[in-house]
Amino acid sequence: MWDSGATARLELAGVYVLNYTSHVDITEDHNRFKNVDGYVDNIHALRYQDQADIAVLIGDYPWPSVFSSISGVVSHVLDRFATVDIDAMYSNYTFAHEIGHIYGAQHAPDEVLFGPSDHSYGYWYNPNPNIKFKDIMAYGKNCIPQYSCQTIPLYSNPSKNVFINGQNFPLGSGDSAGNCYSGGTCSNVALQITKNAFDIANTNLGPCLPWYGICDGVDSSTIKSEDDTVPGQEITTVSVYPNPFKDSSTIQYYIEDRNSNVKINVYDILGRKVISLEDGFKEKGFHVVKWDGKDQSKNTVPNGTYIYTIRIKEKEYTYKTILAK
Ligand SMILES: [Zn+2]
Repeated sequence: MWDSGATARLELAGVYVLNYTSHVDITEDHNRFKNVDGYVDNIHALRYQDQADIAVLIGDYPWPSVFSSISGVVSHVLDRFATVDIDAMYSNYTFAHEIGHIYGAQHAPDEVLFGPSDHSYGYWYNPNPNIKFKDIMAYGKNCIPQYSCQTIPLYSNPSKNVFINGQNFPLGSGDSAGNCYSGGTCSNVALQITKNAFDIANTNLGPCLPWYGICDGVDSSTIKSEDDTVPGQEITTVSVYPNPFKDSSTIQYYIEDRNSNVKINVYDILGRKVISLEDGFKEKGFHVVKWDGKDQSKNTVPNGTYIYTIRIKEKEYTYKTILAK
């Protein structure tokens, strides 16, 4: 069957009927849903309880209405909310469309709502009246007549085909006019979804630092909904000592798999990156890296709490450490 090539999978964490009547304005409902503002605020506790990385509000809105509202992109834990009209969620693939936004996907290049975009684009194609289609992320507003392109249930990926009227057509152009980052790195929605699946699956939802989803005492690897791109089990251990530290902090980690990609960064409590300690491939075995309490420009940072993010292959660990000179 058709396949976009995106490897992320969604797992249903829970379903709740909210004590809330759909408002006429879907955008306002969306804001009430995702924000802590006196409306349906229990969603945040439920989301935490169920460890749901993404929350979707399904409402019933006057048809035709705005189908949905943009929930944002992957950068922020509170942006992983979407709101969709029940009338459009399957017939227009609006559910999958909003999920695509959460994974960092945009509409087609001529349909961007905000920009310039650093995200991958949807795709539409309409060379003649008999051949026209659009993917899940595109509106096809320039299809002739407008919006007349048939939606096919796929995300853009120039290396995948769609079969229309007896012919195969690539699902994207693969150049800057099609499905690439405006910033230059060529991507497509299927690839973008695959790349962001780990970050989304490892969102921490507790009493967190909202900019990164780091929470005290919650191991990010306990998050339920994970993509299944990690083959088998890997045994990896990490320890950080001493804590608090005075002169230098030691991070020791053990890698079971040979040639694992390791990234270690230090952030301050406001989420600003202080320094990158490690970024590259490491051999199987024990590794030690030290942080001397200095930033990238070799300046000593003030006393206080700092956060290590330690990514080993597709797993990310977070640790808090306190600098007390
Ligand atoms: Zn959209």
